[in-house]
Amino acid sequence: MAGATDAIRALVRTIPDFPRPGIQFRDISTLFLDRDGLAATVDALAATVTGPVDLVAAIEARGFAIGGALSVRLNAGLLLVRKDGKLPGATIAEDYALEYGRDRLAMHVDACAPGARVLIVDDLLATGGTALAAVRLVQRAGGKVVGARFVIDLPGLGGGRALDEAGIDVVSLLAYE
Ligand code: AMP
Repeated sequence: MAGATDAIRALVRTIPDFPRPGIQFRDISTLFLDRDGLAATVDALAATVTGPVDLVAAIEARGFAIGGALSVRLNAGLLLVRKDGKLPGATIAEDYALEYGRDRLAMHVDACAPGARVLIVDDLLATGGTALAAVRLVQRAGGKVVGARFVIDLPGLGGGRALDEAGIDVVSLLAYE
């Protein structure tokens, strides 16, 4: 497992000052390009899931890539959590705070059957605002959030703690201080 996570880490590229000065952007597009690294990432995430999952709720956009592959591996369906205004059917939406301003995530109101066991997936956990908005959406739809999984955690920004305090089982493969 340590060897696998080292190999995954080696495929993540850090781009300084993107999208703004001072931000170290952890770019997993380079990990996606590597067939072994991508497979190892999906394997490692799947190994952290012990109970049954009905739906993987993947967050736009990089979460779609990881979440789509993981949903097949877990024999689960795929629920798309999108930026507001992109989904064609009737939606519910949740606002969340960004470093500057606010944004809004949405899902189809009928995407999640009441009681469905839902795993939230995104590429990276920073403050947790995005993931917690996805948690609220799933819960409003009647789903049961069984956990949240990320490739990368930035522990200094407190997202893991926030999800923990919300009672969500959270696991990330890599931490960047
Ligand atoms: P947050 O809501 O603060 O947890 O931010 C998480 C979301 O913002 C994820 O969808 C990430 O893709 C993106 N994000 C935040 N910070 C970074 C970063 N340093 N590098 C890459 N993506 C980031």
